[in-house]
Amino acid sequence: MSLDIREGVFVLDGRDIPFRLERRKGRRRVSIFVEPRQGLVLRTPPRFPLREVEETLRGEENWIRDKLLWRENWLSEHPERRFVSGETLLLLGEEWALEIHRDPLRKRAHIQAKNGIIRVDLSRSADARSVLEAWMRRLARRIVLARVDHWSARIGKRAGRVTLRDTRSRWGSCSSTGNLSFNWKLIMAPPEALDYVVVHELCHFVHLDHSPDYWALVEGYLPDFAVQRRWLSDEGARLYF
Ligand SMILES: [Zn+2]
Repeated sequence: MSLDIREGVFVLDGRDIPFRLERRKGRRRVSIFVEPRQGLVLRTPPRFPLREVEETLRGEENWIRDKLLWRENWLSEHPERRFVSGETLLLLGEEWALEIHRDPLRKRAHIQAKNGIIRVDLSRSADARSVLEAWMRRLARRIVLARVDHWSARIGKRAGRVTLRDTRSRWGSCSSTGNLSFNWKLIMAPPEALDYVVVHELCHFVHLDHSPDYWALVEGYLPDFAVQRRWLSDEGARLYF
């Protein structure tokens, strides 16, 4: 089996396979994963030589082959969204049917979500994707802020600024200064999974690490946190827009 490597691409079965190398400060272990939208990703400690990247990938050739096949299937079952009637959209863990109407006389776009249908009324020039994204981001902001309030009161730690972002690789993060940031696409996840991410970040205000004490604290608030964590890792790829 020939495996050849240069930064960002390695050759497997004669094919160029792109991969992303994330060298991360403070990281000690190497982890490798295939995510539908990101493809093959390798997370390593900060100074991890390319030679060792090659060795790691070579050691996992069979796994990578299987995963890439799985990814192809996943992508064909979850094609890029076109934002047209008949498509579905995941919101709060449920699939909603999209209904797009365009009215040239309408001044402002309007969205109503009811009975499993998200009805989007577009003005003449509005584009369904951006109108929907703005609406979902507003909804995400409202719900995330409410859940942060709820859990900060229970945990007894106040959050500073709360920002919603479009992060590629994480659902939430916290800063040492007490600010929180969340991926707005969490609005697509079941509310319990969203809650888990909020509790996860707030508990870092008590324990900065992922020590047993930290997980015990999380579990104290959310006894089924492991189910939500698993949902995000197994189904998180469905939270795409
Ligand atoms: Zn954490």
